[in-house]
Amino acid sequence: MSRHQKIAFFLLFSPVLSSAHEGMWLPTVLGSIQDRMQAEGLRLTADDIYSVNNGSLKDAIVLFGGGCTAEVISAEGLILTNHHCGFGAIQEHSTVERDLLKDGFWAMDRSQELQNPGLSATFIIRMEDVTERMLGSVPAGADEAARQMALTARGQELVREAMSGTGHQAVVRAFNYGLQYILIVSEVFRDVRLVGAPPGAIGNFGGDTDNWMWPRHTGDFSVFRIWADAEGPPAEPSPSNVPFRPRHVLPISMDGVKEGDFAMIFGFPGNTQRYLHSRAVEYITGTGDPLRIRMRRASLAVIDEAMLASDRTRIQYADKQKGISNAYKKWIGELRGLNELRTVDRKRELEAEYRIRAQAAGRGDLLAVLDSLEATYAGFPAVAKARDLHVEFYLVGAELFRFALGFQQLASPEGRAALEQEGKLQQEVGRLRTAAKAFHKDFDAAVDKRVLLAQYPIYREHLDPLLGPDLGALDKQFKDGRAWAEQVYATSIFADADALDAALAGYSTKVMRRLAKDPALTFARTLTEAFTTKVKPRSDALNQRVLVHMRTYVAGLMALFPERGHWPDANSTLRLSFGKVEGSRPRDGMTYEPFTDLDGVMEKYRPGDAEFEVPGRLRELHATRDFGPYANADGTMPVCFTSSLHTTGGNSGSPVLNGRGELIGINFDRSWESTMSDIQFDPAKCRNISADIRYVLFVIDKVCGAGHLVQEMKLVRRPAAPVSLIDLPIHR
Ligand code: ASP
Repeated sequence: MSRHQKIAFFLLFSPVLSSAHEGMWLPTVLGSIQDRMQAEGLRLTADDIYSVNNGSLKDAIVLFGGGCTAEVISAEGLILTNHHCGFGAIQEHSTVERDLLKDGFWAMDRSQELQNPGLSATFIIRMEDVTERMLGSVPAGADEAARQMALTARGQELVREAMSGTGHQAVVRAFNYGLQYILIVSEVFRDVRLVGAPPGAIGNFGGDTDNWMWPRHTGDFSVFRIWADAEGPPAEPSPSNVPFRPRHVLPISMDGVKEGDFAMIFGFPGNTQRYLHSRAVEYITGTGDPLRIRMRRASLAVIDEAMLASDRTRIQYADKQKGISNAYKKWIGELRGLNELRTVDRKRELEAEYRIRAQAAGRGDLLAVLDSLEATYAGFPAVAKARDLHVEFYLVGAELFRFALGFQQLASPEGRAALEQEGKLQQEVGRLRTAAKAFHKDFDAAVDKRVLLAQYPIYREHLDPLLGPDLGALDKQFKDGRAWAEQVYATSIFADADALDAALAGYSTKVMRRLAKDPALTFARTLTEAFTTKVKPRSDALNQRVLVHMRTYVAGLMALFPERGHWPDANSTLRLSFGKVEGSRPRDGMTYEPFTDLDGVMEKYRPGDAEFEVPGRLRELHATRDFGPYANADGTMPVCFTSSLHTTGGNSGSPVLNGRGELIGINFDRSWESTMSDIQFDPAKCRNISADIRYVLFVIDKVCGAGHLVQEMKLVRRPAAPVSLIDLPIHR
């Protein structure tokens, strides 16, 4: 090994440097790291955090909707999540006349809380390792297909058993590529009402410019309430429901945080890929991220400009824009981070060491899997690129086409006949009329056409003739992409809300024929057919093979590198990460301090700039330094802080807790230099960003006048530690 290799190797495997705070731990294994956490400042036991039989912290942690976290902060069902997690709901209730996105919203009594059909709040009842029972169902010598069949059947059995007579939901989830299986039993509440959101100039302060950035000054929170049946269990939304009575409520610390304080985060991180093979990372950095960044840069240029030009478009596109730009900016950071950390090289070095160790251990089976992975990945880039291109162009790009495809059944004689036979034709027409109204509420055909035109040249440039649709006919008919797009948007019925509604209202064979010939639907069909016949089967087969090999590879890593901390990748299941309140060294010559305060908000204030407006009331409170009981001891008003907790998307809205399990902040982001942590965590750089809980309370109470909500919460303030006489200042 060269000196250079030795250093890289040391950096990669040193338990001190590389696993200081890495890890998203399953609550069921906390017992094994309890001592380490306690040594760092945890005052609770693993059982206080996660217990099946007794109330524990886990009972205050909520999977909010499908992809965020929330936490219970009052005995009457109040939950706290991010503004960007509640954003869809807030946007749904917004109109130009009643703009909740811009002005915020606060229910001054419970009758004003706003219902959100489709939104759910899920609590974990228990998690049980069922690996043995799952794997016990797989017949000896079964191939992968037989294995999957056996596992699915056993999984269904376990789920049925767990749900029977309980009213609970259950699912069996695979971890570590199927080395481990966990049964997760949960309780899902579906009456989740919006209670409050700060004005956009607080909840989304800094906008896209500050997103993924430190220093940060965003009050990224919103408040909801879970309503339930009077007897306690979940119930469909109904006026007779009552505020939910939780099993655990997080106390809120009013003491603030200091650098070096122990901190932990409990929530539902979405997705990490820490075990990826070097070839996969090579694809991400060389092709995947750059392509997706380029496609989104093109669409965002159009959408951002349109949103700035009109309030109507701003509201219509707010939620969609957020989704597109969030990942776009994250990938830029990720790409830079992976390149700076030389992740591909490091992975190769790891694989080389793996070979050496597997050989030394006489584990031919573990050794062979690396060759299998190499061979499988040989066919990967072309297919992955075709998939990414399709996703960005069709599923994330111009909306008209995927909207049109939803009418496929009404556009074909067979589809229509099938519906008629089932007696469901009218019902389906009605459903699509409602869906179309919802779609058109947030759709602007002129903007959509410009998105298409911005992305189309990039799409064509990267289209692989072997894996993409045949667009020859279209090329022959139109002189260029613009001429084609103009024609599509001028003639497609799907771009015209009134015409579509009228056609559906009088749905007939004639309408069916018209829909079938529609240019948007025709193009959508061409794209999806090409994808389903050429890309998806290849991509599924490759992924399947990768999965099988990764299962062995990860088992190999665990066996051959016992000194490394092993934890399964995040997969939207409940996890805990721990670390400290601390700043970082994002790159050479740069340090990030861990705290920001309200003076920093005012430094960024730029009147007239939508991203950096500051509401008048907040400016007033800043000017008079009227921070109520929420200020720091030195009189400044805290806003955000960073900590070394390993987080990812899905941790948005997660509670950040002190060693006593009291709420000190609400997580909402990572710094830009941290975003590669989904693939490689770097303890010197990776920091999560939270809004200080005292800022949240200050905004609710002092800025927005909703102090009645703070009354519901349990605020704790510890008496100052006894001061010894010697420490007292002399003049006292
Ligand atoms: N802001 C992030 C998100 O969009 C949270 C994170 O990934 O750290 O989910």
